[in-house]
Amino acid sequence: TRWVYAFGGGGADGDASMKNLLGGKGANLAEMSSLGLPVPPGFTITTEACTFYYANGKSYPAELKAQVAEGLKKVESLTGKTFGDPANPLLVSVRSGARASMPGMMDTVLNLGLNDETVDGLAKLSGDRRFAFDSYRRFIQMYSNVVLGLDHHMFEEILDEHKDRLDVRVDTALSAEDWEAVVADYKRAVEGERGEPFPQDPNAQLWGAIGAVFASWMNDRAKFYRRMHDIPESWGTAVNVQSMVFGNMGESSATGVAFTRNPSTGENRLYGEFLINAQGEDVVAGIRTPQPLTKAAREEMGDVQPSMEEALPEVFTQFKAVVEKLEKHYRDMQDIEFTVEKGRLYMLQTRNGKRTAKAALKIAVDLASEGLIGKEEAVMRVEPQSMDQLLHPTIDPASPRDVIATGLPASPGAATGKVVFTAEEAEKLGGAGEAVILMREETSPEDIRGMDAARGIVTARGGMTSHAAVVARGMGRPCVSGAGEIHIDMKAGEFRARGRTFKAYDIITIDGSTGEVLAGAVKMIEPELSGDFATLMGWADAVRRLKVRANAETALDAQTARQFGAEGIGLCRTEHMFFDPARIAAVREMILADDEAGRRGALEKILPMQRQDFVELFKIMEGLPVTIRLLDPPLHEFLPHSEEDVASVAEATGLDPKKLLRRAQELHEVNPMLGHRGCRLGVAYPEIYEMQVRAIVEAACEVVAEGRPAPIPEIMHPLVAKGEEMKFLRDLTDRTAKKVIEEKGCQIDYKVGTMIELPRAAIRAADLAENAEFFSFGTNDLTQTTFGISRDDSGRFLGYYIDKGIFEKDPFVSLDTEGVGDLIRIAAERGRAARPDVKLGICGEHGGDPASIQFCETIGLDYVSCSPYRVPIARLAAAQAAI
Ligand code: PEP
Ligand code: MG
Repeated sequence: TRWVYAFGGGGADGDASMKNLLGGKGANLAEMSSLGLPVPPGFTITTEACTFYYANGKSYPAELKAQVAEGLKKVESLTGKTFGDPANPLLVSVRSGARASMPGMMDTVLNLGLNDETVDGLAKLSGDRRFAFDSYRRFIQMYSNVVLGLDHHMFEEILDEHKDRLDVRVDTALSAEDWEAVVADYKRAVEGERGEPFPQDPNAQLWGAIGAVFASWMNDRAKFYRRMHDIPESWGTAVNVQSMVFGNMGESSATGVAFTRNPSTGENRLYGEFLINAQGEDVVAGIRTPQPLTKAAREEMGDVQPSMEEALPEVFTQFKAVVEKLEKHYRDMQDIEFTVEKGRLYMLQTRNGKRTAKAALKIAVDLASEGLIGKEEAVMRVEPQSMDQLLHPTIDPASPRDVIATGLPASPGAATGKVVFTAEEAEKLGGAGEAVILMREETSPEDIRGMDAARGIVTARGGMTSHAAVVARGMGRPCVSGAGEIHIDMKAGEFRARGRTFKAYDIITIDGSTGEVLAGAVKMIEPELSGDFATLMGWADAVRRLKVRANAETALDAQTARQFGAEGIGLCRTEHMFFDPARIAAVREMILADDEAGRRGALEKILPMQRQDFVELFKIMEGLPVTIRLLDPPLHEFLPHSEEDVASVAEATGLDPKKLLRRAQELHEVNPMLGHRGCRLGVAYPEIYEMQVRAIVEAACEVVAEGRPAPIPEIMHPLVAKGEEMKFLRDLTDRTAKKVIEEKGCQIDYKVGTMIELPRAAIRAADLAENAEFFSFGTNDLTQTTFGISRDDSGRFLGYYIDKGIFEKDPFVSLDTEGVGDLIRIAAERGRAARPDVKLGICGEHGGDPASIQFCETIGLDYVSCSPYRVPIARLAAAQAAI
């Protein structure tokens, strides 16, 4: 087996198509090398080697040693340097690189190959002894931390002692001799901790680093990141070993990152940051605040330091050409890392850049308009779930802003919450459902859980490409980075800015689109749905086959749904209408009635209110189909439970408290979700469903009489299991509807159908189809009844199943396409066999989940229905499923 792929010198063993084997970084280094771009030579150890490593008790394949040695030889001959040669040493970086990018989650070692002898070689070669020892101490610290597992604080303390001794404040003030002394202390400290010296053999160093990168695939933050982004553990990471180039060799050296378009807005303009005389991670780490690449950007920011265009004009011209070539080649916005060593440009990485939803949308639409990609490809370029970011509120421009501080607009959107200063606290409070804003000096990969739990993130340091900014954009969390006016005082549990002091838990608001941090809560407004959004949605609508409806019962939800492009209501849960304080009394009276006559009396009171509900919905939906589900939950849900509740209801309604309590107790069920609910209520008390059907048909007649588009009510029965049950419900519905139609003398087309929420219903779908004109898969209950897992209690134990890999995803979020999916498939087949034109839809939560929508497309459902805010997600996902 081939485990090692070389690149460099204008050629490569691999190419961009080999991401699965070489990881994203390795595949793109190979591609760039073959394109003739300046890439420092190196080689990639495959992800399969990582998989082998974990499958074989953390051991390497037998051939690996020889292949790595051979790869190293090639790098030596391309660079003219030799690994471990004191006179002319080759130094390498060792980096992880998985299929999907996992920024900062895994480990990296730079300057590898340095030891007590090669450091002198590096000093001679570079003509800079200070640089050589600075590199050596960086290497010792990084290697000791990443490979030997030693705490980096130990090294920071030693460095601080030296600075105190020398009475200097900044690293740059240390001389070559000072660094030598630091190195000596570092080595002593390492030996003290381990009982053996810092490894001097470059080969031993190399294998240590390779092992550490493989091991970092399984570290906690990598695992968490994978779970969050659905990255399978089985993919493994590749290891890239690459000859070092140095951006810290003086004023004609630099290191930077660039995006070919703005990753926050999508604007088509080179965008990025660089630092003169800096190494590797300095830009991303947020330690020094970097400078913009272009003169124009520098002028806009009003910055005084020169841009790359001004400081290194020749390299910049070359760089710009390379970057344009890369974007054309990959036909997508690129995220690029580069280094300039003594005036020579080197490309270290390119990949399709992460971007905000807003930028993704704009870039996809622009690339299609520029002719680089087609419209369907543009539709495929936007992740449906990410649309969520665009659909949520932003700060009302008209509302007053009490600005505490400003930083960089690192990730758009606005958020309000209690300010906290540690990731742990954000995780704790956020997990408990509190809205928190995480404020940090800067963030590091360890903070990822806290960032996820927070509504928004603020950092006092770091640029647009700092860890916080990159991760927040990926998560869709609003983020303000580099708000330098903010001084966090952890000891006092407060932060200060512009002379004001705020305590932990004070409410603040952040605007990730402007970079402002505001005091208090601020008024938010709904998003703008025109422009690029409308364009892309138009392209999506042109290719999708599945219709998209919304689950809605209030006028507001129905309006939102239409605004987002819903093509009807797929589920109106009528019970939600019963909880209205104005009518709950009548509902309780109905439930408490001893006999049918009593119930009918109460239902008379509910009828006009219920009718008005439907009139409103029909008007908003203007002739689009509206699926109305008759009463579903167990009746006792409407009743008061505690004695206090009972007393207050008795007072409000004038009902006898004793009777109220007794009736509530009578209605108590051991297992209500499998009890007297759904159509079982309609079977036991037909008058309830009769009232609802009457309200629906009367409402439709009323709307028609007003000369509005004729509504298409679809009357739906919940929790049906048997053909006979469906027949009973169908007769009840038709009988009632017919009566109303005759009374009113109006012409209404309505349909009668059923939810499919029980395995028996799915299997006996043919029986149901005899009297059901449509099926709507209620996959919340169907998942519950198929697994026998309570949808209300699953949160308590499903986590264990996901941790142990028994479930990949929560089946209540993403459809179990195997089990529940099989039942849906069977129901669809059998239902269609019995009634060829039976209409099929889904209205469980899964109707808004892209992976589940893909499944719905595969089995040919007619529509999906989801909550209003997910309608655009579903439209896009349905289009992608059809392409
Ligand atoms: C379902 O069970 O999937 C459904 C849509 O109904 P509800 O969530 O109201 O039980
Ligand atoms: Mg249900």
